[in-house]
Amino acid sequence: MARKPRKRTYKDCDRLWGQIIRLDETCAVCGARVGDGTCHQVHAHHLIHRNAIFFRHNLENGICLCPGCHRFNIGKVIDGKRTISAHGSPAFFREWFQETLPEQFEWYEKNRWLVFPNVKPDYTQIYSVLEDELRQRTAGKAGE
Ligand SMILES: [Zn+2]
Repeated sequence: MARKPRKRTYKDCDRLWGQIIRLDETCAVCGARVGDGTCHQVHAHHLIHRNAIFFRHNLENGICLCPGCHRFNIGKVIDGKRTISAHGSPAFFREWFQETLPEQFEWYEKNRWLVFPNVKPDYTQIYSVLEDELRQRTAGKAGE
């Protein structure tokens, strides 16, 4: 008989979602990597605000960013390149997002205004999908 999965909450799903988004430990904007010391950590940023619970644990709604590109860069030009950040300079970030990740941007544009007032997410189900995804994405990495 199949084992009944443990009941999960949105917080369990948050943790797993973030873990998956941060897996390659590389900032999508500036390319800083935890592995080579160019940044000390990476963040999982929600493209559609995480208060939109229906998309909160959707993996297309996440992007891996260094702390600067997540919160602190304000669109200055350094070495001929503009520093941007999702929260610090959202207009520049949006431009970058559209140019660099057109498919994900299209998904974002299509979904960002949608509301599902009567949908109550099943976090146990979402957790199990995320768990499978994490397992697939980390398969084969153990021997590296
Ligand atoms: Zn960065």
